[in-house]
Amino acid sequence: MLRALLLAPPGAGKGTQGELLAKERGVPHLATGDMLRRHVAEGTDIGKQAQAYMEKGELVPDEVVNQLVGQAVAGDTPLDGFVLDGFPRTLEQAQLAYDWGQANNRTFNAVVSLVVPEDELVRRMLARGEQHGRADDTEETVHRRQLVYEESTKPLLEFYRQRGILTEVDGVGTVDEVAARIRAAIDALSAD
Ligand code: ADP
Repeated sequence: MLRALLLAPPGAGKGTQGELLAKERGVPHLATGDMLRRHVAEGTDIGKQAQAYMEKGELVPDEVVNQLVGQAVAGDTPLDGFVLDGFPRTLEQAQLAYDWGQANNRTFNAVVSLVVPEDELVRRMLARGEQHGRADDTEETVHRRQLVYEESTKPLLEFYRQRGILTEVDGVGTVDEVAARIRAAIDALSAD
């Protein structure tokens, strides 16, 4: 059963690839950004707590996100498999997820890091902002989100490398090309 995490800077294509991978492997795709945007749109308590951070390109506080993911993954019947997209994003979140996995016999079996050069990321996000009007795809926020990734999320690469489940995949190419690389990388990890 696949329990995978897509770890990549904003604009790298986590959402697209996460959805494809989850569908192919028959597990739910849990994208914290999408979940949070739904809460904001519906005006829930979680949405109210998250909105201002998201608009500025800052991370939503760990306790809010942990609660959200906890409900989805670790509820009454903990999920056996999943593709997580956008969580964990801080070392605190990663430690919590790891402890939960250990306690429930559900540690991740693959962490896919999508590698895309920064100028390409910025170009993609600004184009997406023009097409879909996502509120946080503005020039200022795009740069802030890259910085937040560098500072808070990049250290997770080392966390997972040490646990032997990190695989780095070139994220430049067509959707199909990148999807094929991800598939091959996950197969190589499970063959170890
Ligand atoms: P992107 O990767 O392009 O920034 P996401 O949809 O994954 O897009 O996330 C959008 C926003 O949602 C983030 O900038 C952040 O404010 C919030 N968010 C998503 N996941 C998390 C998380 N695990 N921890 C904290 N904030 C999060």
